[in-house]
Amino acid sequence: MSSHDVPVHPHDLDHPRAAVVDGLGAVDRPTVSFELFPPRNPDAAPRLWSTVQQLAAVRPDFVSVTYGASGSTRDTTRALVRRLLRETSLTPIAHLTCVAASREDLAATVEEFLDEGVRSFLALRGDPPADGSWAPHPDGLPTAAALVRLLREVEARRCASSPAQAVRAATRHLSVAVAAFPRGNPGAGSTREQDVAALLAKQEAGADFAITQVFYDAASYRELLELARDAGVTIPVIPGIIPMTDPARLRRVAQLTGVPVPADVLDRLDAFDGDDPADVARRHRVGTRLGVDLAHAVLDGGAPGIHLYTFNTHGPALDLLEGAGLGGDGPPARAAVATDDHLTPVPTT
Ligand code: FAD
Repeated sequence: MSSHDVPVHPHDLDHPRAAVVDGLGAVDRPTVSFELFPPRNPDAAPRLWSTVQQLAAVRPDFVSVTYGASGSTRDTTRALVRRLLRETSLTPIAHLTCVAASREDLAATVEEFLDEGVRSFLALRGDPPADGSWAPHPDGLPTAAALVRLLREVEARRCASSPAQAVRAATRHLSVAVAAFPRGNPGAGSTREQDVAALLAKQEAGADFAITQVFYDAASYRELLELARDAGVTIPVIPGIIPMTDPARLRRVAQLTGVPVPADVLDRLDAFDGDDPADVARRHRVGTRLGVDLAHAVLDGGAPGIHLYTFNTHGPALDLLEGAGLGGDGPPARAAVATDDHLTPVPTT
């Protein structure tokens, strides 16, 4: 089932933020999507699959799967994407990064994904090595925009070599997403203006839409949109939101991305810093409320939907969606925070 096939349940019509019926009778509900990372070890796989099934209940428009910057998760990313394609009706988006790969390697990886039926990619430069240094592979691609161009070139070559392939491609468009950064990219040392220029370059290379880096205030998303539109960016920009129920995770993500967590968010969560179930539940409620408010604010500000960084845990993501009126008609999300300490997230956001 493609994203365009997702049926809309009458429940969606009940919530003013969740659905708008236009003059033609088409229902235009905000998109809902999730980021997953491949399991780090075989033991984590069953639990991830259970998460996938819980997330599938809200009929997301797509599920994106991260890719280790140096190709470290090439096999596990492919395996998860393949399983999503074969065993679910979800639309997987395969992340792909340039770091540490030659152009030839990247073209081969793209071919492998296409051979397996993957039709959606998130083209990225990739996280720099831990020491912060960045140098493109000598025979590699310098930017995400170059990777977008490569994806389009590989697809064009395949279509030119086979009429059957061309027909299939015409019926199943190759969709390419890219990253956007509401407050610049501290991880890459770039300002918002530089990243808007980069976003425009990605659009010109053939990107279809963008997903943002994590952020905590709706104003930074709105300002990014304004700057991007002024610069000529016309593609949709989906805000990437992290459920704010786990302050330790937020702090780790801040270290990895360079995106600071506002002090008032941490203060509100740290007010309940115990491990007993009552504190965990209060933290969960406060964090869910913060996420719901952010989701409402960006949707009110014109966001096409929301993309949730799940860290392979469904509870906080589903509760946020439920609170925002985007929970669909799936089973109610669990109120308790899922424990996921056996998972070591791939830091991508
Ligand atoms: P680029 O667009 O190539 O930008 C890299 C740098 O070059 C930036 O500083 C940019 O400003 C500058 N630049 C590029 N082109 C121009 C231009 N034309 N004009 C001016 N400046 C320019 N990382 C992973 O390793 N794996 C993942 O799976 C992953 N998933 C992610 C998902 C999302 C939604 C996001 C937001 C990020 C993700 N990342 C992931 C992190 C990302 O790879 C890093 O943030 C990386 O540093 C930047 O990637 P990019 O694709 O934006 O690179």
